[in-house]
Amino acid sequence: MSKTGDYLKDNSQFLYSLLLIILIPVFIIANTLWQIRVSQENMTYELHRKAVLAESILGSSLAPNISDTRSLQSQIDQMSKDNEELKEVTVLTQTEDGFLAVASSNSDILGVKFSSEDFITSWTQDSPVAMLTSDATKTPPERMWSMTSPLKDSVTGKKVALVNMKVTLSDIDALTRKNLNLSLIFLIITIFLVLLLLVNHFRFFEYAVLFKRLKEVDKMKDDFISIASHELKTPMAAIKGYLSMMFEGIAGKMDTKAKEHLQKIDSNVQRLDNLVSELLDVSRLQQGRMQFDLQPYDISKVVDQTINIFRDPAQSKGLKLDHLKPPEPLAQVYIDPDRLRQVFDNLVGNAIKYTLKGGVTISYKIEGGNLQTIIKDTGIGMSPEDRKQLFEKFYRIKNEKTADIPGTGLGLWIAREIVRKMNGEIYVDSMENVGSQFTITIPFIKEK
Ligand code: ADP
Repeated sequence: MSKTGDYLKDNSQFLYSLLLIILIPVFIIANTLWQIRVSQENMTYELHRKAVLAESILGSSLAPNISDTRSLQSQIDQMSKDNEELKEVTVLTQTEDGFLAVASSNSDILGVKFSSEDFITSWTQDSPVAMLTSDATKTPPERMWSMTSPLKDSVTGKKVALVNMKVTLSDIDALTRKNLNLSLIFLIITIFLVLLLLVNHFRFFEYAVLFKRLKEVDKMKDDFISIASHELKTPMAAIKGYLSMMFEGIAGKMDTKAKEHLQKIDSNVQRLDNLVSELLDVSRLQQGRMQFDLQPYDISKVVDQTINIFRDPAQSKGLKLDHLKPPEPLAQVYIDPDRLRQVFDNLVGNAIKYTLKGGVTISYKIEGGNLQTIIKDTGIGMSPEDRKQLFEKFYRIKNEKTADIPGTGLGLWIAREIVRKMNGEIYVDSMENVGSQFTITIPFIKEK
């Protein structure tokens, strides 16, 4: 994978969190502003509708009094008094150069001439016109709907005047401001929560960095084990070579005592060699460097080779070693015979190592699409607690029965990893002081 690819893969969690941290507030802000705008638009529309409606009702009741300006004025005054939202009501008649205010709730504009665009539009188009205006003298500026509508004679249907009405939006605006403030508080709380999340995430990033570092250290350890094991192999081969020469008497005759010491050196070198080989296997498996040459094979042939190796050690311990082969040849499974041999060597070796009397039996069973190879012994067995940790690296059961038995605690971990590479699995069943049974299941080759 490229460097950028690796970087992205390693930091994908970080980028994901960063994206979230940016996206959360953006969405919240956008959503809040949008909500405010929509609610304001809705309210304005609603008011506009109501105002136009009110204006048309108002207009019709004013129309009969158009020539009687005094009663018109008193009617307007009464309307303004009854309705607080009504800021101004004015009736205007057309003159040659504009519209003259003949009655108004605002005494300042009585007798004043107007030629504003909305008056002209309303008059010429014979329809109500509504416009948003604001009174800038107030803080905050007071917004109002200014609505103009022609007044018609109820008998002739002719336009006789214009009525202009100003309805305040202050209540609605106050409500909007309240909503806005509430939304802002909500927004601030949300941003605060997101910041808390951010702080938490930074801690999480620290863990991520630590985790990456741990993985690096772990790899360094694996590399070290791999290199050290390789380096140990060469001097050990030399020691073994000299030892065999001494046993053969090439270095001169040795007395029994010297031979005994030499035997001890030999068995310890053998243990060391096993440990180094197992460490090398562990690092190869962990780094995916162990090669597997999978091929269709009869498992019983692999078991035969293991039996040949362990016949003498079993006999010298007074143990029976039985291989219960079925009468017909076994169906083939897809395995690497050399690697599986290593697994059987470990399991049969263990069975002999941890059995004091009785014996070890190897048998087969066909279950579902799998071939089961069962290695059963009549040994010391193990407790259910020990069984749980059995396949962990370096795990060895420690009790008085196992105290003098040498081992590394790596064999079963390696065995399980190898079997898994062949799509199989290892299971264990055991009872203390009765014996253990290890079952290896390998799937049969599927016919297409
Ligand atoms: P070791 O080199 O110690 O044998 P293994 O990984 O092969 O390492 O086995 C791990 C432990 O499991 C052993 O130390 C032993 O206590 C226990 N064990 C393995 N096989 C048997 C068995 N057949 N019977 C009883 N105990 C066993």
